[in-house]
Amino acid sequence: MAGLGDFLGWFGDFISSFCSGFFSFSFFGIFVNISNKNPPLHKAGGTLCVILDENTINEKLMNIFSKLFGKTKNENIDSDLNIKNFKSVSSFWEFVVSTDNWHSKYSPYKIKNINNYISELAPLIIQSTNELRKKMEFSYEEYEQIVYWDNFLIRIDMDESNKFKLNKSLTFKQYCSNCKKEIGFQQRYPKLICGECLSKITDKNNRLVEFFNTEGLGYGCQGYYCETQQKEKYNSDICFLEGKEYFAEEGRFGGIVIQLKE
Ligand SMILES: [Zn+2]
Repeated sequence: MAGLGDFLGWFGDFISSFCSGFFSFSFFGIFVNISNKNPPLHKAGGTLCVILDENTINEKLMNIFSKLFGKTKNENIDSDLNIKNFKSVSSFWEFVVSTDNWHSKYSPYKIKNINNYISELAPLIIQSTNELRKKMEFSYEEYEQIVYWDNFLIRIDMDESNKFKLNKSLTFKQYCSNCKKEIGFQQRYPKLICGECLSKITDKNNRLVEFFNTEGLGYGCQGYYCETQQKEKYNSDICFLEGKEYFAEEGRFGGIVIQLKE
């Protein structure tokens, strides 16, 4: 489970950095900075700066995703999809979402003229990704493709060179993975449970358990049996709720995160 957490963490950081217009990584000890702008500062030695135009960065990013995620990233079935060829934006979107796993099979970066219709398209995209989050039929790996669509909108919204701004009444929604109640949107953790369900998690014998960080600053994750004042340890990160398996881990920014296990 730690591997999955690390992966999601890395992915979130990657997206965050990309949203801000650049990304950086360490390559055999050399710090590499890829951006469409001149870097704000040069580190003394050991930094390789690569300046690319934005379209090239998008294309490179697509290639990186393809290599990282394997075949699900290479399933784009029509890279020539052009909104102009449809009688309306809504008929275009109906066509897209009528495809199974549309979020994996189409890429927003490959749809022609998408930027010209983005104001009309944004509510439809958000509604569709919200529906996917509510149904929660995706694997954690498949979820990265849904994030990709959401981040496409977030990124355009942050780009001050265009007029598009996300309507504040449009919100990304998320739902408890047990009772389906709406909870706060946490893109990094799509299968969380709500506070009420959190108080009902048990070991496999139906005894209530709870999890805490083991150290200050939000590090570590340790289970205990409830009402033992954290004296009786529960030495597993797997817990149960209404016949389903969940896993606990330390949150990226501290605290404990409990999500539905695949
Ligand atoms: Zn719940």
